Amino acid sequence: MRQNRGLLLKLHNSEYFIGLKKDTQNSFSFPAFVEKFFGNKINKKILNKIETFLIKENRCYLEDTIKRFNREYFNENYNWARFKRSYRRFGSLSSKRNINISYRLLFAPKKIFEYVCVHELAHLKEFNHSKRFWAHVQRVMPEYKQYEKWLKENGHTLTIANNLKEVACCDKNDRYFKSIRGA
Ligand SMILES: [Zn+2]
Repeated sequence: MRQNRGLLLKLHNSEYFIGLKKDTQNSFSFPAFVEKFFGNKINKKILNKIETFLIKENRCYLEDTIKRFNREYFNENYNWARFKRSYRRFGSLSSKRNINISYRLLFAPKKIFEYVCVHELAHLKEFNHSKRFWAHVQRVMPEYKQYEKWLKENGHTLTIANNLKEVACCDKNDRYFKSIRGA
Protein backbone atom coordinates (compact mmCIF):
# COMPACT_ATOMS: atom_id res chain seq x y z
CA MET A 1 0.00 0.00 0.00
CA ARG A 2 1.40 3.36 -1.02
CA GLN A 3 1.62 5.85 1.75
CA ASN A 4 0.76 9.46 1.22
CA ARG A 5 2.68 11.85 3.31
CA GLY A 6 0.72 14.87 4.31
CA LEU A 7 -0.68 17.04 6.99
CA LEU A 8 -3.60 16.51 9.30
CA LEU A 9 -5.56 19.63 10.16
CA LYS A 10 -7.51 19.14 13.36
CA LEU A 11 -10.75 20.98 14.07
CA HIS A 12 -12.96 20.29 17.07
CA ASN A 13 -15.66 18.79 14.85
CA SER A 14 -13.60 17.07 12.14
CA GLU A 15 -10.16 16.58 10.70
CA TYR A 16 -8.84 17.00 7.20
CA PHE A 17 -5.94 15.39 5.46
CA ILE A 18 -3.91 17.66 3.25
CA GLY A 19 -1.99 15.45 0.86
CA LEU A 20 1.36 16.62 -0.43
CA LYS A 21 1.94 16.21 -4.14
CA LYS A 22 4.11 13.23 -4.89
CA ASP A 23 7.04 15.24 -6.18
CA THR A 24 7.22 17.25 -2.98
CA GLN A 25 6.67 14.42 -0.54
CA ASN A 26 10.35 14.02 0.17
CA SER A 27 11.52 17.56 -0.37
CA PHE A 28 10.60 19.00 2.98
CA SER A 29 10.93 18.16 6.60
CA PHE A 30 7.70 18.82 8.44
CA PRO A 31 8.87 22.00 10.21
CA ALA A 32 10.30 23.31 6.94
CA PHE A 33 7.03 22.55 5.20
CA VAL A 34 4.94 24.33 7.77
CA GLU A 35 7.26 27.28 7.70
CA LYS A 36 7.33 27.44 3.92
CA PHE A 37 3.61 27.17 3.39
CA PHE A 38 1.93 28.39 6.52
CA GLY A 39 4.41 30.48 8.41
CA ASN A 40 4.61 33.82 6.64
CA LYS A 41 3.13 36.19 4.16
CA ILE A 42 4.39 34.40 1.04
CA ASN A 43 1.94 31.67 1.84
CA LYS A 44 -1.11 33.90 1.89
CA LYS A 45 -2.48 32.18 -1.19
CA ILE A 46 -2.45 28.70 0.32
CA LEU A 47 -3.78 29.95 3.63
CA ASN A 48 -6.57 31.67 1.76
CA LYS A 49 -7.54 28.48 -0.02
CA ILE A 50 -7.68 26.52 3.20
CA GLU A 51 -9.68 29.24 4.93
CA THR A 52 -12.18 29.36 2.08
CA PHE A 53 -12.49 25.59 2.20
CA LEU A 54 -13.01 25.45 5.98
CA ILE A 55 -15.56 28.26 5.95
CA LYS A 56 -17.56 26.58 3.18
CA GLU A 57 -17.37 23.12 4.74
CA ASN A 58 -18.55 24.32 8.14
CA ARG A 59 -21.24 26.79 7.14
CA CYS A 60 -24.11 24.48 8.13
CA TYR A 61 -22.36 23.51 11.34
CA LEU A 62 -22.29 27.17 12.40
CA GLU A 63 -25.85 27.85 11.27
CA ASP A 64 -27.13 24.80 13.14
CA THR A 65 -25.30 25.74 16.34
CA ILE A 66 -26.61 29.32 16.28
CA LYS A 67 -30.13 28.13 15.45
CA ARG A 68 -30.11 25.57 18.26
CA PHE A 69 -28.97 28.00 20.98
CA ASN A 70 -31.28 30.71 19.70
CA ARG A 71 -34.31 28.43 19.72
CA GLU A 72 -33.52 27.09 23.16
CA TYR A 73 -32.52 30.30 24.99
CA PHE A 74 -33.07 33.52 23.06
CA ASN A 75 -35.83 33.40 20.47
CA GLU A 76 -34.55 36.45 18.65
CA ASN A 77 -34.49 37.40 15.00
CA TYR A 78 -31.19 37.70 13.22
CA ASN A 79 -30.25 38.11 9.61
CA TRP A 80 -27.57 35.49 9.17
CA ALA A 81 -24.68 33.77 10.95
CA ARG A 82 -21.43 33.38 9.05
CA PHE A 83 -17.82 32.45 9.58
CA LYS A 84 -15.40 35.28 8.92
CA ARG A 85 -11.65 35.42 8.58
CA SER A 86 -11.31 37.85 11.44
CA TYR A 87 -8.10 37.65 13.42
CA ARG A 88 -8.68 40.31 16.05
CA ARG A 89 -12.20 39.45 17.11
CA PHE A 90 -13.73 36.05 17.62
CA GLY A 91 -17.27 37.22 17.17
CA SER A 92 -19.33 40.28 16.42
CA LEU A 93 -22.90 41.35 15.84
CA SER A 94 -23.59 44.02 13.25
CA SER A 95 -26.30 46.63 13.51
CA LYS A 96 -28.10 44.69 10.76
CA ARG A 97 -28.22 41.73 13.15
CA ASN A 98 -25.64 39.70 11.26
CA ILE A 99 -23.70 37.33 13.49
CA ASN A 100 -20.04 36.97 12.55
CA ILE A 101 -17.91 34.24 14.05
CA SER A 102 -14.19 33.77 13.40
CA TYR A 103 -13.51 30.47 11.64
CA ARG A 104 -10.47 30.17 13.92
CA LEU A 105 -12.83 28.96 16.64
CA LEU A 106 -13.00 25.69 14.73
CA PHE A 107 -9.55 25.10 16.24
CA ALA A 108 -10.77 25.78 19.77
CA PRO A 109 -12.56 23.27 21.99
CA LYS A 110 -16.23 22.96 21.05
CA LYS A 111 -17.37 24.63 24.30
CA ILE A 112 -15.33 27.74 23.49
CA PHE A 113 -16.85 27.94 20.02
CA GLU A 114 -20.32 27.54 21.52
CA TYR A 115 -19.58 30.21 24.11
CA VAL A 116 -18.78 32.79 21.43
CA CYS A 117 -22.01 31.84 19.61
CA VAL A 118 -23.97 32.34 22.84
CA HIS A 119 -22.14 35.63 23.50
CA GLU A 120 -23.17 37.04 20.12
CA LEU A 121 -26.73 35.75 20.49
CA ALA A 122 -26.93 37.50 23.86
CA HIS A 123 -26.04 40.74 22.04
CA LEU A 124 -29.34 40.37 20.16
CA LYS A 125 -30.93 41.02 23.57
CA GLU A 126 -28.46 43.63 24.80
CA PHE A 127 -26.25 45.47 22.34
CA ASN A 128 -23.60 46.24 24.96
CA HIS A 129 -21.62 44.58 27.75
CA SER A 130 -23.90 45.65 30.58
CA LYS A 131 -24.82 43.60 33.62
CA ARG A 132 -28.00 42.63 31.85
CA PHE A 133 -26.02 41.35 28.90
CA TRP A 134 -23.82 39.13 31.09
CA ALA A 135 -26.91 37.85 32.89
CA HIS A 136 -28.17 36.50 29.55
CA VAL A 137 -24.86 34.78 28.93
CA GLN A 138 -24.78 33.38 32.45
CA ARG A 139 -28.28 31.97 32.13
CA VAL A 140 -27.04 29.74 29.27
CA MET A 141 -23.47 29.16 30.45
CA PRO A 142 -22.94 29.79 34.17
CA GLU A 143 -19.27 28.91 33.72
CA TYR A 144 -18.72 31.52 30.97
CA LYS A 145 -15.87 33.31 32.80
CA GLN A 146 -13.57 30.35 32.30
CA TYR A 147 -14.21 30.50 28.56
CA GLU A 148 -13.40 34.21 28.45
CA LYS A 149 -10.19 33.43 30.31
CA TRP A 150 -9.37 30.59 27.95
CA LEU A 151 -9.77 32.85 24.93
CA LYS A 152 -7.55 35.52 26.44
CA GLU A 153 -4.82 33.04 27.19
CA ASN A 154 -5.09 30.75 24.15
CA GLY A 155 -6.73 32.81 21.44
CA HIS A 156 -3.43 33.43 19.69
CA THR A 157 -2.85 29.68 19.22
CA LEU A 158 -5.94 29.29 17.05
CA THR A 159 -4.22 29.29 13.68
CA ILE A 160 -3.94 26.82 10.84
CA ALA A 161 -0.19 26.43 11.32
CA ASN A 162 -0.61 25.56 15.00
CA ASN A 163 -3.12 22.85 14.31
CA LEU A 164 -1.30 20.83 11.69
CA LYS A 165 0.28 17.49 12.39
CA GLU A 166 2.45 15.52 10.03
CA VAL A 167 1.02 12.13 9.13
CA ALA A 168 1.79 9.26 6.81
CA CYS A 169 -1.63 8.33 5.65
CA CYS A 170 -2.97 5.65 3.39
CA ASP A 171 -6.64 5.70 4.18
CA LYS A 172 -8.59 6.21 0.98
CA ASN A 173 -11.54 7.63 2.89
CA ASP A 174 -9.62 10.62 4.09
CA ARG A 175 -10.51 13.96 2.71
CA TYR A 176 -8.10 15.83 0.50
CA PHE A 177 -7.89 19.46 -0.26
CA LYS A 178 -8.05 19.35 -4.03
CA SER A 179 -6.10 22.47 -4.68
CA ILE A 180 -3.28 22.38 -2.18
CA ARG A 181 0.02 22.17 -3.93
CA GLY A 182 3.33 21.65 -2.28
CA ALA A 183 5.37 23.69 -4.73
ZN1 LIG B 1 -19.57 41.18 23.22
